[in-house]
Amino acid sequence: APPLLQLSGLEQVFDTKRGKVPAVSGVDLTVGKGKVVCLVGESGCGKTTTARAAAGLTRPTGGQVLYRGKDVARMAKQEWNTYREDVQYIHQDPYASLNPVRTILSSVTGGLKARGIVKTKKQAREAAIELLTRVDLTPPEYCLDKYPHQLSGGQRQRVSVARALAMEPKLLIADESTSMLDVSIRVSLLNTLGALRDDLGVGFLFITHDLAVAKYFAWDGEIAVMYLGKIVEQGPTPQIIGDPQHPYTKALISAVCEPDPKLARAKKTIRLRSSEIPSLTDLPSGCAFHPRCPLYEPGLCDNELPILESIDSRRLSCHVLARDLKAG
Ligand code: SF4
Repeated sequence: APPLLQLSGLEQVFDTKRGKVPAVSGVDLTVGKGKVVCLVGESGCGKTTTARAAAGLTRPTGGQVLYRGKDVARMAKQEWNTYREDVQYIHQDPYASLNPVRTILSSVTGGLKARGIVKTKKQAREAAIELLTRVDLTPPEYCLDKYPHQLSGGQRQRVSVARALAMEPKLLIADESTSMLDVSIRVSLLNTLGALRDDLGVGFLFITHDLAVAKYFAWDGEIAVMYLGKIVEQGPTPQIIGDPQHPYTKALISAVCEPDPKLARAKKTIRLRSSEIPSLTDLPSGCAFHPRCPLYEPGLCDNELPILESIDSRRLSCHVLARDLKAG
């Protein structure tokens, strides 16, 4: 069977007053049933733009989003509706997705009512209690008649996950969904999301700027590192975290406060030439990372665009590493 979600050569160019902004260029990603792929990178690297296109919230300017092997841009209405129900997007800020004047009961069961799955008030309450229990919001009865502002940040985020679950999603696209929460609440929500994966086989496209979160949630999945709209390194989580190759991945890892000796070693090996992130409207020639890269080779790195190529079990986009790794 085709994978749940496949992004193929995804491009998103925005027209702005300052010119064209290539927010995402040539992104290829695959998420299978019950699998997790983590997109990591600094803000502005194209993670959210990729996530929104994958969820059907924006139409990409190039490439394809395939859901179960079908190009979503060519779907008939019924197929499109199924895709939009199956693929749910969870915002960073639940305030952005929860209607402030609707009770939690109404927010969580709105989709079920619209689909005719619940008809009576009693059914709605029962369904809401079941969903809120599934996301470990206890006691669920306590929240039903409250409004979003009466809950804590962690509770609100659980409500938005419950609301997404009401659609019986096959894939959750979680965009920095835990980044606004305190550490202990974050871990608890990550565990809840992990249980959905284990119990229901939900796939995840998980967006985070935080490598520690990526390591925790995608421990048996994959990490794709984005820089200025492109994936620069991608592979199984233990390899990317424990043995990063791309200098940008190393730099990201060196920014994480981590007692793991492997990470501490990676920390020592990297010193960027500049801390400034270039503008997407004025991308550096060749490899966009070259003004910051400690491995930069003039004439090569600033001349040609590196391509993302498979090297062992990972994909890497770097002239120098590709050459050296191939040379053994
Ligand atoms: Fe650094 Fe060159 Fe590799 Fe880019 S291609 S990451 S500038 S070594």
